[in-house]
Amino acid sequence: MKNLVTEIYQTLKSNNLKNYNTLKYFVILFTLLSILISCEQSDDKKINQWSDFVEFRKGNIPLIIVAPHGGDLKPKWIENRDCQGSVITKDLYTLDIAFQIENELNNMGYQPFIVYAKIHRIKIDLNRSLQTSHCEDDTSNELWQLFHDQIFTFRQEIINNYNRGLLIDIHGHGHPIQRIELGYLITSQKLRELSSDETFIQHNETSINSLIENHPENKKLGDLLFGDNALGSLLSKNGFPTVPSSTDRAPKSGEPFFSGGTNTKNYGSKYQNGVDAIQLELNRNGLRQDSEDRKRFSKVFAKILIDYMKFHYSDIFPSN
Ligand SMILES: [Zn+2]
Repeated sequence: MKNLVTEIYQTLKSNNLKNYNTLKYFVILFTLLSILISCEQSDDKKINQWSDFVEFRKGNIPLIIVAPHGGDLKPKWIENRDCQGSVITKDLYTLDIAFQIENELNNMGYQPFIVYAKIHRIKIDLNRSLQTSHCEDDTSNELWQLFHDQIFTFRQEIINNYNRGLLIDIHGHGHPIQRIELGYLITSQKLRELSSDETFIQHNETSINSLIENHPENKKLGDLLFGDNALGSLLSKNGFPTVPSSTDRAPKSGEPFFSGGTNTKNYGSKYQNGVDAIQLELNRNGLRQDSEDRKRFSKVFAKILIDYMKFHYSDIFPSN
């Protein structure tokens, strides 16, 4: 490229002085612009350390809250995800809700462990494996590692201090039915079968296997999905319709439903004992869309979380 420019430069210089001058100005302008762009990019990268794209906090109860899809930041130096099958829309207002839940828990005297992403999903999907979190631009690998190492470290700390605990992975869905969907790694088909025969599915196939194996009141899988103290039932009772719950045990055939993604699989207790995981998929109307609803939900959910843990994890939940 450099040789080609020099060659044209020399040819024009010898043939035509006017064109030579035009080209000279063009080359100067081009050089100045390149310097300007490269300065801006390197400054950007230098100023924005990876820690600007995430928020972590250590907790004082055996609860981790994760929010991977609610961020807004779109650094220019990470390519947009544009390969086939990439979901690039953010889960609207879920980061705001995640911060409000933390704040409400703080007001009650509790600090959960938190791992929140502030980067936009168009740049990296933090609820996927490292290889599928981007589209061949591995610039963001360090960020993926940082985010997941932090969940892993907190998870380990909870196991060391409390033996067991709970992780809630917060998302937002765009399905037409306005209800919260809880993911325990149980598909809608299995939920339907389970709702008529509670012995149908083995609890070791779920992300709350540890809870069922160690439950202080000896509750079974059916109790944790459809019982009065199931997370879905507590949410429904408090004005936020949820599936599965005592009033809406399973999605009907053909209704879209999210049963839990990579974080629920990797950090829940399906494959290892210790920390259970539940994916929380929040609907839009009446919950995420308006700021008053977000405030109301965050307050209600923080209280439900503590009630839930005091009941189901009574043997390990710290008394205050
Ligand atoms: Zn999501």
